[in-house]
Amino acid sequence: MMYRMLPRRGALKTLAALFIAPLLARPAAASSPPTTPPAPGMALKRLQKWECTNEECEPYVYDPSVGDLNVQDLDNPIPPGVAFEDLPDDWICPICADPKRDFEPLGEWVEVWVKA
Ligand SMILES: [Zn+2]
Repeated sequence: MMYRMLPRRGALKTLAALFIAPLLARPAAASSPPTTPPAPGMALKRLQKWECTNEECEPYVYDPSVGDLNVQDLDNPIPPGVAFEDLPDDWICPICADPKRDFEPLGEWVEVWVKA
């Protein structure tokens, strides 16, 4: 009977490697960004993460290296490399819909390549 279990466990391991390995690799990649531009005309920008202060929120953190949903305009999501300060004035927290003024700087910085 055990032989039936083996292929399944193998498949689970493969799935774990596919989905978990990239997640684990992300923080390392963020802390040591590439030193050469990924494309000509790109510049490395150091941007701060901002946290939503609504207590009912998760709390939600805006990460400029990831960008975000744009709840007000779903067809135009925020691309990576946009500083919190440069988000549209009508941008709102995608979790609780609080406005930008309810966010505060988290004191954590990320480096992201942007068009110079
Ligand atoms: Zn929020």
